[in-house]
This record gives sequence, C-alpha cells and structure tokens, in this order.
Amino acid sequence: MEIKHDKNIIILSLIAFTFVIVALVSAFYTSYADDIKKEQLKLIRANIILSQSIQKKKEEFDQIQDKIEDIEELIKGNQRNNKSNIKKLLANMNKNTKKLIVDSIPSGYPSDAKRVTSPFGYRIHPIYKTKRFHHGIDFGGKLGTPIVATADGIVEFSDFDKGYGNLVVIHHNFGFKTAYGHMQSNLRVKKGDFVKKGEVLGYLGNTGISTGPHLHYEVKYIKNVLDPKNFLTFDINNFEKLLYAENRITWDSLTRAIMNLYGRVSLVKLL
Ligand SMILES: [Zn+2]
Repeated sequence: MEIKHDKNIIILSLIAFTFVIVALVSAFYTSYADDIKKEQLKLIRANIILSQSIQKKKEEFDQIQDKIEDIEELIKGNQRNNKSNIKKLLANMNKNTKKLIVDSIPSGYPSDAKRVTSPFGYRIHPIYKTKRFHHGIDFGGKLGTPIVATADGIVEFSDFDKGYGNLVVIHHNFGFKTAYGHMQSNLRVKKGDFVKKGEVLGYLGNTGISTGPHLHYEVKYIKNVLDPKNFLTFDINNFEKLLYAENRITWDSLTRAIMNLYGRVSLVKLL
C-alpha cells in the first residue's frame, strides 16, 4: 500500500514536472519568438525609412547633377558657339567638309509627309488640353507613307510604346539620336539592326496617343531634345542656319571629330 502510494506520488510529480518544463520552455520560446518578431519589424521599419531617405537623396542628387550639367552646357554653348567662332569655323570649311558633316548627323525629312501639324516647343496638348512641351515635330500625312532613317545608326528601340505607339529610336554617331513615333505595327527594323540613312523603318500610322495619322519625329543630342526644324533642311547649300541656330552642339569639336574619322578612313583606303 505504502509503496503503491509512493509510486503514484512519483508519477504525479513527474507529470507535474514535465508540465512545468514544457510550460517554461514554451513560455521562453514564445517570448523569444516575440522578441525576434519585434526586432524583425524594427529592422523592416528602419530599412523602409532608410531606403526612402536614400531614394530622396538620390533624387536630390540627380536634380543637382542635372542643374550642373545644364549650367555647364550653357557656359560651354555661350563660350564656344558665339557668332564669330561659328563664322571662323565656316570660313575654314570647303564643300567636301560640309558634305561629310551633313552625311554624319541627322539631316533631311524622315518622309514625304512634310506638312507640319504641330511644331517643337510648348503647346496645348491635343488630348490632355494642358500646356506641355512637345519634344518633336508632328507631320500629318497619308497612312502607310514610308518613314526613313535621317542618318546611319543602330536601332536602339523598335516596339510598341503606350504614348508613342509603334516607335523606332535610332542611336547615331557623335551623340545624336532620332525617334519616329505613331507608326503602323509593321515595323521594318529590329532592335540592334544597323540602318543606313534613307532606309525604311516603318510606315506612317495613328498608333499610341494620337488624334490622327501623323509622324512624331524627334532629334536628340546627348540628353537634350533639339528642335528638328533646321535639321530637316540641313544640306550643303543650306548649311549655316543650323550652326547658328543650335548652340548646344559644340560644332567646332564635332567638325574635328568627323574630319579625324574620315581622315583615318581615307588612310585605310590608301593602304
Ligand atoms: Zn508629336
């Protein structure tokens, strides 16, 4: 009797002891897990705040960088592209030099559709009805009119864009780019293709944000969008106008670069 009683006590105490241990261990782990969760939340919050402030700093930095570049460009433009420098540069050029320059950068109309329906610059947007900067020139024309490259280059983009519709962007030599928007879906070139001046890229369309069949044509130089107007009529007989009008292009160094390149090319030919 006595022994049986003792046994029961031992069993009961063992069970009680086990319960206590289990309770202690789970209490420890619960609080430990809670602590970890709290720490994790703290870290996540800190991380969000940190990335927000990094993003903000990055934006501020980009804005400052843009301003510095704009100022640098203005100073450069004013110093190097004053009228007397351009005059001197033109005086030293012969017909061949002019032809090489005309052939090296975007020149001429991108299609037979030459009726300008919207010029470059600020305008009231036909769809948004607000004042917006128009980055190119719009030409109204017949659907299906062939659109051609205005200089040699490599296709950087050839696909559908929500705003520009079927769009081709070409990267040319010497920092120039051109863009051709709202074309029909049967684009003739692919990203990575090398194209020649005059090569058909696609056909005049009415895709993307557009109120009627037209081509949107852009000319860019480094980061700037330029007014394509004087590039359309740029040729050896109408050469000076663009040089005087576009002072963001460093014409003297561009001329040197083009002449150096062709100098090397003719040397190769001689060898
Ligand atoms: Zn446009």
